[in-house]
Amino acid sequence: MLQSPVFLEHDTGHHVENAGRLAAIFHRLGECQGWSSLEPRLAVSSELELCHSGRVSEVLEQITAEGGGSVDSDTVVSPRSLEVARLAVGGGLRLLDEVVAARGQGFALVRPPGHHATPTRSMGFCLYSNIAIAARYARQVLGLERVFVLDWDVHHGNGTQDCLVNHPEIGFVSFHQWPLYPGSGWYDERGQGNLYNLPLPAGCGDAEYLFALQHLVKPVLERWDPQLLLVSCGYDAHASDPLGSMGITSAGFGQMAGLLAAWCPLALRVGFLEGGYHPQALAQSVEATLRAWEQPVLLECPRAEQFNSAFLKRIYEAEEFWKR
Ligand SMILES: [Zn+2]
Repeated sequence: MLQSPVFLEHDTGHHVENAGRLAAIFHRLGECQGWSSLEPRLAVSSELELCHSGRVSEVLEQITAEGGGSVDSDTVVSPRSLEVARLAVGGGLRLLDEVVAARGQGFALVRPPGHHATPTRSMGFCLYSNIAIAARYARQVLGLERVFVLDWDVHHGNGTQDCLVNHPEIGFVSFHQWPLYPGSGWYDERGQGNLYNLPLPAGCGDAEYLFALQHLVKPVLERWDPQLLLVSCGYDAHASDPLGSMGITSAGFGQMAGLLAAWCPLALRVGFLEGGYHPQALAQSVEATLRAWEQPVLLECPRAEQFNSAFLKRIYEAEEFWKR
């Protein structure tokens, strides 16, 4: 488990993505048994450049030199944010090294989050693409061949997608509410056959997500047979979340995590914290995810008959596009 109080030092004030999110998780988990704690390290330029142009760092360095500010209307940069963001990236890579050496699993409790940061710009509360850099590092530096990224944050992982679109050897699935920020993530965004997008209508809960995982993602995972499964763990599809309009429960996130683990029993697993803006729901959901990964259980998935036609239409349309 990558966790450090340094990630509280990305000081965004009263922004919805604030240090209180991580503090709530620390408070809930306490000393999380069975998960040894790992300190972060700074990412070096060559690691950042696995996904980003030098321009991304130049902009952040300039804002930092001016004493802080913001990249856009959503994305705050405090005086310590740049160093903290590089610790989030480097910490994720150190965690990956550990997970590979121990043939195990890990979770990166980091902020700022990463999945909206594109090759050329920070955006959407995200400065660097933590998980896409980890995926590229796993291939490029650690020599893993089959790397797969799954993103269940309520927003489309546009940054991860843009970072991986030219790396067809890495697979990427994103489930997201649609329409919603940032507006991308329609089914037809297939990249070089390695991208799989599921734009879901608002109002989906545990049953819809479990059905979609079973019906769409399980066959894809069977085909890719990942050695390493990276999960963008955003919890803003939670029923209590102020930004999303979905209905997942904390237990539901645990069930999703458990299914992924049960379907890929031989894969190394690493979760990366992304969104989730109701601190209590976020902390409960992270805990449910960790518990499920400690002891994955297979459960019976819901049947198609119980869902409305608007939801099923999205599932069957996605299925058609995902076959192409
Ligand atoms: Zn989100």
